[in-house]
Amino acid sequence: MADYDVIVIGAGNGGLTAGAQLSARGARVLVLEQHNLPGGFASSFVRGRFEFEPSLHELCDVGPAGDKGGVRKLLEDDLGVEVDFVRVPEAYRMILTTENLDVTMPFGIEEFADAVDGYVPGSRAAVRSYLDLCREVLDALNYLGASKGNPDKKVLLKQHGNFLRTAPYTVEEVTARFGIPEQAKKILYAYWCYIGIPVSRMSFTLWSAMLYKYLATGGYIPRYRSHEMSAAIEERVLKNGGRIEYNTRVDKILVEQGKVTGVETSHGERFSTSHVICNASPTVAYNRLVFPKSEVPRTAYRQVNARTHGSSAFVVYLGLDASPEDLGLMDYSYFIYEHMDIDRLYASFSDLCDPRVQATVCLNRAVPDCSPPGTTIMSFTILYRPGVWDRVAPEDYVSVKRKVADRLIRNFEQAMHVSLRGRIEEIEIATPQTFARYTGSFAGGVYGYEPEPWDSIIPRMMCMQDELYIEGLRFAGGNAFRTYGYSSSLLSGQTVALLTLRDMGVV
Ligand SMILES: Cc1cc2nc3c(=O)[nH]c(=O)nc-3n(C[C@H](O)[C@H](O)[C@H](O)COP(=O)(O)OP(=O)(O)OC[C@H]3O[C@@H](n4cnc5c(N)ncnc54)[C@H](O)[C@@H]3O)c2cc1C
Repeated sequence: MADYDVIVIGAGNGGLTAGAQLSARGARVLVLEQHNLPGGFASSFVRGRFEFEPSLHELCDVGPAGDKGGVRKLLEDDLGVEVDFVRVPEAYRMILTTENLDVTMPFGIEEFADAVDGYVPGSRAAVRSYLDLCREVLDALNYLGASKGNPDKKVLLKQHGNFLRTAPYTVEEVTARFGIPEQAKKILYAYWCYIGIPVSRMSFTLWSAMLYKYLATGGYIPRYRSHEMSAAIEERVLKNGGRIEYNTRVDKILVEQGKVTGVETSHGERFSTSHVICNASPTVAYNRLVFPKSEVPRTAYRQVNARTHGSSAFVVYLGLDASPEDLGLMDYSYFIYEHMDIDRLYASFSDLCDPRVQATVCLNRAVPDCSPPGTTIMSFTILYRPGVWDRVAPEDYVSVKRKVADRLIRNFEQAMHVSLRGRIEEIEIATPQTFARYTGSFAGGVYGYEPEPWDSIIPRMMCMQDELYIEGLRFAGGNAFRTYGYSSSLLSGQTVALLTLRDMGVV
């Protein structure tokens, strides 16, 4: 008998939900995590009197308690995990610094369409019908989810025709059909940096589902940072009888004749199993973990090489000794872009010291008591293409990161006409190298493979069985079939756990 029914490598969002789902169904599960705490990017850290959120700006697909979205259903109903979710107050404030555009957008489909129309009169009808199409795509995805991989083709054709029609196209191609005025399109595209690739290459399916979910049900965050959620899922795994080992890196996924036989850890221990769920990326698994290397089929390498790795991030975290009101910060989420030529903005992710895109959060605007009275927590995030920070010589690393951080804060101050630098009590800076060290992701990637139409959620779902290159090895998390982000990685863990139970003949 194997030591474990399933071994999960990594306790990020995907690994934890997989562990919780498997252990809830009675599987003997071991989760091995190289770090000393759960969550991967979903965590928290303390500096002085501030507890910072390292990654999450907002979570999609949570919804209110009375109308639960997929993530809330997964956590509360399927896994029995309680998280104190807080809805963030507005969709976003977006400032285009060279175009004199400054908009604050509400959640709610009608409210959003009204607001766009307020800024760009005459745009409402086109925006509204665009959002109707987004709703149709989301309905189709929900149908596919409910059909558990066996959709009725007639239902798809009859009821979800627009989903099928738009699936092979990019956001830009589909949006162009609606006659939305250019200025309104700029407002509509503000969330593009959450997916992090230009709309000229972004899958419309993924974009439309994300946009509609955010606008219809709002964005949410756990009250006590994302660590609250990770700790709650971890607790559920343990209560279900699962085992989690921290400070334990998996160095080898042992494979014999095309089948998983176990893992070897950094402590030299070997555990036998026929099923591994890997929360690290396929790129990392095939290049570093599968042992012996000869067990990795050439098609597996070809598949990961055909994909484009997503970006990494650079974040400045500030604890300020003044309240948001005193600082003049009235909103939670700010997108500050130089302009809205998204191809050029994306190209700037390769430019080390000249950030033209930033997503900034003032946490107190969603959770007023997240820091002591009279103080404020902020974070400023930009993206970098893989490898850009590798060009920085070790002796220049500190000065370059301080320079970029200063630019980010300065850009925000100029765009918002506020003054922050005199009020900084704590500052922490994370670069792509920090994220690479922290989770071991390839090139510090914080997003999985880029979701272009040919490699987005639908093609990945359709190819899932064909891509089982090694029997017993499946993937969960942001690099898996649902693509990246909190909701996708959490939900992927559940699906992959259920598929693994099916492999085991349990369901
Ligand atoms: C700055 C930033 C902002 C973000 N903002 C948002 C946002 O607002 N909304 C949103 O939805 N998403 C956001 N994201 C993306 C989101 O955080 C990720 O998509 C998601 O958390 C990825 O989860 P995952 O399951 O892939 O696991 P990861 O978080 O990648 O964790 C993987 C885990 O596996 C462990 N591991 C890896 N290899 C091994 C090994 N060999 N042995 C043992 N353990 C191993 C790692 O230590 C880690 O704990 C953001 C990310 C960052 C960094």
